[in-house]
Amino acid sequence: MEEDYHKAGKIAWEALQKGAKKVKPGASLLKAAESIEKEIMEKADGLAFPVNISLNNQAAHYTPGVNDDTVFGKDVVKLDVGAHVNGYVGDTAITIDLTGENSKLVEASEKALEELIAAIRPGVESPALGKIVGDTIEGYGFRPIANLGGHVLAQNLLHSGLSVPNIETGSGFALEEGMAIAIEPFASMGRGRVTEERRVEIFSLNKEGPVRNADARKVVAYASEHFPHFPFAERHLAGVCTGLKLKIALREIISREIFTAYPILIDTGLVSQAEKTVIVTADGCEVTTK
Ligand code: MN
Ligand code: MN
Repeated sequence: MEEDYHKAGKIAWEALQKGAKKVKPGASLLKAAESIEKEIMEKADGLAFPVNISLNNQAAHYTPGVNDDTVFGKDVVKLDVGAHVNGYVGDTAITIDLTGENSKLVEASEKALEELIAAIRPGVESPALGKIVGDTIEGYGFRPIANLGGHVLAQNLLHSGLSVPNIETGSGFALEEGMAIAIEPFASMGRGRVTEERRVEIFSLNKEGPVRNADARKVVAYASEHFPHFPFAERHLAGVCTGLKLKIALREIISREIFTAYPILIDTGLVSQAEKTVIVTADGCEVTTK
């Protein structure tokens, strides 16, 4: 188990480093996402989620669509990648500042991540970790995003239900030796709270269930076979069905709660993110995404 976490972490980290080179003005978001995913799938058992390439005030959950012709410009780019080995996840992200003007914003989330790693050990309570993130980011003059946070991992599970907050919260849980956690501070120039955009590119299978539409049936069967545990992108369904047919199929699937939709999350100002996966050890933690 622990070995698989380390394998997945290394694959995700290496894909992130390689992928970062593809984030440059004029380069295609779609090509960047596809090449990073290809790299991960060659080495891991699969993606832990589609490569997220969230720009500027988008905090998370953007991944290019099948016909996306967007190219990088003067953007603050969050590149977030995940791999799994035998269901054990490595989840890691960096922010790349193509504006040349937001290095402090990038530094704020990186510093908060560093402080978290230094503080993590068995017995530490999650609200105390939230306080570290919040204080560090506020020290830079930015806001931590209050309704996003890190997450305890489990086999075939990206979010086990336990969250590591980005602010001091009233209650939480105590860290235990052996826990695998994706920690991810977000620093924002906006109000520090994300809301859902209408647009959705990422889904996960919630449950099996009957659908009326024939395309919807094919889409559900495909997702059940290829993505039984982890999120996938609309783009990953292109081999089954595309365009308006896919939109109609997805509408029915979501209304029946067979898929969960993850809308793009936005704040009111520029956002940076830094993320690594760690395993809690007897006296601290070990980063797997390295
Ligand atoms: Mn992530
Ligand atoms: Mn994460």
